[in-house]
Amino acid sequence: MTKDPVGLLPQVAASLRHRRPFLWLNGNRRPIDALSDGPFGLADVHAAAARLDRFAPLLASLFPELAATGGIIESVLVPAPNLENELLGSAPGRLLVKCDHALPVAGSIKARGGIYEVLCHAEDLAIGDGLIEPGGDIRQLQSDAVKARFARHSVAVGSTGNLGLSIGIMAAALGFRAVVHMSSDAKAWKKSRLRDRGVEVVEHDGDFGRAVEAGRRQAESDPDAYFVDDEYSPTLFFGYAVAALRLKRQLDELAITVDADHPLFVYLPCGVGGSPGGILFGLRHLFGDHVHCFLAEPVEAPCVLLRLALDRDRPISVRELGLANCTEADGLAVAQASDFAAPLMRPLASGAYTVTDDMLFDDMRLLDRTEGLSVEPSAAAGLAGPRWLTTSAEGRAYQDGCAIGTARPTHIVWTTGGSLVPEAERQRFASARSSGPAGY
Ligand SMILES: *Cc1c(COP(=O)(O)O)cnc(C)c1O
Repeated sequence: MTKDPVGLLPQVAASLRHRRPFLWLNGNRRPIDALSDGPFGLADVHAAAARLDRFAPLLASLFPELAATGGIIESVLVPAPNLENELLGSAPGRLLVKCDHALPVAGSIKARGGIYEVLCHAEDLAIGDGLIEPGGDIRQLQSDAVKARFARHSVAVGSTGNLGLSIGIMAAALGFRAVVHMSSDAKAWKKSRLRDRGVEVVEHDGDFGRAVEAGRRQAESDPDAYFVDDEYSPTLFFGYAVAALRLKRQLDELAITVDADHPLFVYLPCGVGGSPGGILFGLRHLFGDHVHCFLAEPVEAPCVLLRLALDRDRPISVRELGLANCTEADGLAVAQASDFAAPLMRPLASGAYTVTDDMLFDDMRLLDRTEGLSVEPSAAAGLAGPRWLTTSAEGRAYQDGCAIGTARPTHIVWTTGGSLVPEAERQRFASARSSGPAGY
């Protein structure tokens, strides 16, 4: 078939260019057994989990809200029967919500990877300078000598908002100078929240890519600066991936089986691809071919769908399709996918779909009305997933293709941010425009 000039099938290119919400199925998904010789595996996820466990006493001591869990930052997995009725209708299966919108400390999924990467850097720096012993009590990072050292060192990041909150809060808590480079679409409340915490916020015209580039350049010229690179970070990726191990435990506790008769469908809001990529990497390695992960992106910023749908993998911006990366879903407002996460996702993801901002606002209200959960626009992107899979022609074809006809699937909608959203902002969301009847 002839390809669009950028290397897409014509229908895919047309849907993307015309900002038409659609479900894309990944023809490059591979059985997990075909991938055993990759450079990364489940051992990397376990290593990150073990290191986070080691950091827990320090987190418990720094953040009172973590005392109850002994320093483990985790969210609940809850059955959502009312939402299930709305989204699945008469289709078989059950639906749960993974509530990362309520993750403590940072209020979004960025609490997983972001906090992990800052802690890793802090420990490496302190060991490198001979201030603590490897393997010793991690709470030594709170000693006066270590704090004095950290005060002369800066941790920087480029962010549309939530990664800045996560990195900024953690870096400041350890005594680092924290610098967050923010894109013009970053919400005002996220900037002021950071400034209130003593974080330096640098604003940039243009989008997320610009903010990252500026931060990277500034940190490169400063030997006492560390830059968290959201466009290429294995540490963020495996920090996020730990969620897969924790989710498995939560499914076990709820006695939910994952096998050929009980496939697991997971819907992940996707920006640069690090958090959903890490999670689906972990889930595919744990559940093999019985887990089906779908990425959810705004019609204005489908950077991961675009990259995965290319005939040959290469970095590419949604601007090449004439898209502007303008969306109320600030957490997903990314024009170009992570160069670390995207190639890893290519054989693992089942597909991706796009949503309009109006659909996001409708689904935010639906989640609030049915389950009483309040999230930010980005975090509502997962709700469209079960509809795409159960009611669209492509979704049904996918289910037929994996012989799901007789099975009882479990659908998990991952809500990724929102518990820190101020009340005035919530009011604005509540009265935002509606999309009218959606065509799935
Ligand atoms: C950042 C973010 C995502 C997506 O994470 P990426 O690693 O950028 O793909 C999803 N939801 C929210 C609320 C976010 O802030």
